[in-house]
Amino acid sequence: MKIIAIGRNYAEHARELNNPVPTSPVIFLKPDTALLKNQEAFFLPDFSNSIEFEAELVVKISKEGKHIDPAFAHTYYEEITVGIDFTARDIQKNLKEKGLPWELAKSFDHSAPIGEFVSKSKFSDIQNISFGLKKNGEWVQKGNSSEMIFKIDSLISFVSTRFTLKKGDLIMTGTPAGVGPISMGDVLEAFLEEERVLITPVK
Ligand code: ZN
Repeated sequence: MKIIAIGRNYAEHARELNNPVPTSPVIFLKPDTALLKNQEAFFLPDFSNSIEFEAELVVKISKEGKHIDPAFAHTYYEEITVGIDFTARDIQKNLKEKGLPWELAKSFDHSAPIGEFVSKSKFSDIQNISFGLKKNGEWVQKGNSSEMIFKIDSLISFVSTRFTLKKGDLIMTGTPAGVGPISMGDVLEAFLEEERVLITPVK
């Protein structure tokens, strides 16, 4: 499986990092070795002094498809959750300055904790779901899928014109504003509406 991640999909987050608001989706990949399951600890890597959390709505692809019409994109996923796109911000800053790819900052082992999946049938409107992240019991990020620049169905459609989507692939749909640093001993908890779907201790 692969993880397709979307950058700058919330205008306020693009602004907080002084990035332009994109006119087509910004995309990068994380390999399957980036996965970290719910309740497993994230160990701070020694190659960065600035790991930041980015809480994101995650869509799990349920069948293979390419060149998917946006009108049918909703039939390609059944479950969603919240995950964290851990980012080595110091390394990313360096790579961005040089115009280099982001993988060293975004795609390292365990850079993608993923919560327990929830059936999308629980939600009346997939583009109006609140989600968020608590660090040590305090809210640090709150977002709503209504604020996405590129909506889920158009992301699935666009991504599938470049990468064949396969059952089990994950799309991380971008982070709202409020990203910030983690340190040893922190506990991160991600919520999909009221439900806690992910807990990640930092060691
Ligand atoms: Zn992200």
